[in-house]
Amino acid sequence: MKLYNTLTRKKEEFIPIEAGKIKMYACGPTVYNYFHIGNARTFMTFDAMRRYFQYRGYEVTFVQNFTDVDDKIIQKAKEEHIEAHEVSEKYIQEYFKDAESLGILKADIHPKVTENIQEIIDIIKELENKGFAYAVNGDVYFNVSKFKEYGKLSKQSLEDLQSGARIEVNEAKQNPLDFALWKNAKEGEPSWESPWGKGRPGWHIECSAMVKKYLGETIDIHGGGGDLVFPHHENEIAQSEAACGKTFANYWVHVGYLNVENKKMSKSLNNFFTPREIAQEYDLEVIRFFMFSAHYRNPVNFSKDLVEAAKNGLDRLYNAKNNLTHLMTTAEEGVKNGEEWVEELSAYRKNFIEAMDDDFNTADGISVIFEMVRHINSNISADSSKEALQKAYNMLIELSGVLGLLNKAEETSLEAEIEELIEKRQQARKDRNFKLADEIRDELKARGIVLEDTPQGVKWKKA
Ligand code: AMP
Ligand code: ZN
Repeated sequence: MKLYNTLTRKKEEFIPIEAGKIKMYACGPTVYNYFHIGNARTFMTFDAMRRYFQYRGYEVTFVQNFTDVDDKIIQKAKEEHIEAHEVSEKYIQEYFKDAESLGILKADIHPKVTENIQEIIDIIKELENKGFAYAVNGDVYFNVSKFKEYGKLSKQSLEDLQSGARIEVNEAKQNPLDFALWKNAKEGEPSWESPWGKGRPGWHIECSAMVKKYLGETIDIHGGGGDLVFPHHENEIAQSEAACGKTFANYWVHVGYLNVENKKMSKSLNNFFTPREIAQEYDLEVIRFFMFSAHYRNPVNFSKDLVEAAKNGLDRLYNAKNNLTHLMTTAEEGVKNGEEWVEELSAYRKNFIEAMDDDFNTADGISVIFEMVRHINSNISADSSKEALQKAYNMLIELSGVLGLLNKAEETSLEAEIEELIEKRQQARKDRNFKLADEIRDELKARGIVLEDTPQGVKWKKA
C-alpha cells in the first residue's frame, strides 16, 4: 500500500513498525462548540482509513484526543457563566452524537488533556532537563533554536521562519518562534500544580504526551487537517523527538481543506455548517458519500449542487442493494442462473483494493463500486439464482462497508418482510400446519396488512 507522507512530500510504500499492526493518532476537536463539516471531513477520513486497514487485515490501534483545556473553552464558559469543564463535557457528548450520525466509529481511545496533566508535566520536565525548554515566571517555553531539525515537516528553515516571524511584545521569550509548553495560571482559569507553579499546558504538548502514553515513542501514522502542519505538528515533532530522541511518527497524513461555495467557512460569512444543520435536509450518509467522492488530500468545495449529486449517487447504490434484496426474496434456490457473471465480481474487489492501496483513493474506489453496480444491474433478472444474487449483494456490501456506506436498513424492507411472511404462511398451509398459518395471518393483521386470495396467488394490501 502507498501512502503520501507530508514529511517527505512523496507517496511511499507503507511499512508498519510491527508487521500486521498499526498505531495511528489523529488530532481531535477542541470541544467548545459543535464540530463543523470541515472537521467532519478530517474525522471521517481517519475513520475510513482505519476501516480500510482493518479490512486489509491489520490490527489498528487508533487514538483521537479531545482538547478540553483551551482559551476558546474558557471564553465560552465565561460567556455562559459556567465552568470550563461543563463546556467541554457537553461538547464531548455532542461530538459522539454527531460522529455516530456520520457513521464515524469511536476511536479505541479518546484521551483528554485534563486526564493527562501528569504525563504532560513529565515530558516538559524532560525537555527542561535536556536543555530544550526554559522557564520564565511560571511559563515554560520550548527553545526552537535548540532543535536542529525544526521546520522539517513544513519545509521551512529556521532562518526563513525567523525572518518572517512577528516580533512579539512578549518579553519572556528568548526567540519569537519559541512556543509555550506551560502557561502560568490566570485568575478564574482552570489550573494545576506543577514544578513551575500553578498553570495549564500549552496546546501542542498534549499530543506529544498522549501519543507517548497511549501508543509509544514512535508511531506509524499521525495526522489531522492540513492547517495543522504548521505550527502544531511541527511543534509536536520538536517536543517528542527532543524529549525521546526517536522518530515521532513515520508517516504524516494531512486532509485537504473543505470550503463552502469556494470560500473558507467562517461565522462572519454565515457559511458555517454543522452536521446537525445539514441533517435537517439530507441523510448524513449523503455527506459521507460526498466526502469520499474526492481524494482526501484535495481541497473540496461544499455546495448544494455537489451534495445533490452525491445524493443521486448514493441513491443509485441503495437502489442496487434494494433490488438485490427484493429479487433474493423471490429467487429459487438451486437454480443455476447467473454464476458466470458473479464470478467476474472478484475483479471489482481487486480494482477497489488497487484504488484504495494507492494513497487511499476513495474517489476511484467509489468509481469501481459504480462499475460493479452497472455490471450487476445489466445481468440480474427474475431468474437469477438465489446464490448468485446473494454473492452480488455480499460483494456490494463488502466494498461499500469499507467506506462505512450502505449499512442502513433498506427502505423497501417492509415490503420484502411481508412477502416473506406470506410465503411462510403458504408453506405452512401446504404442510397442513394451520396453527402457524393462522399465527402469521394474525401477525400481518396486527400490522395492518390484509390478505386476499386471488387466482394469481395471495395478494396483500394495507388496511
Ligand atoms: P479543531 O477543533 O479546530 O482543532 O479541528 C479538529 C480537526 O479538524 C483538525 O484536524 C483540523 O485540522 C480539522 N479541520 C478544521 N477545519 C477544517 C476544514 N475546513 N477542512 C478540513 N479539516 C478541518
Ligand atoms: Zn495534535
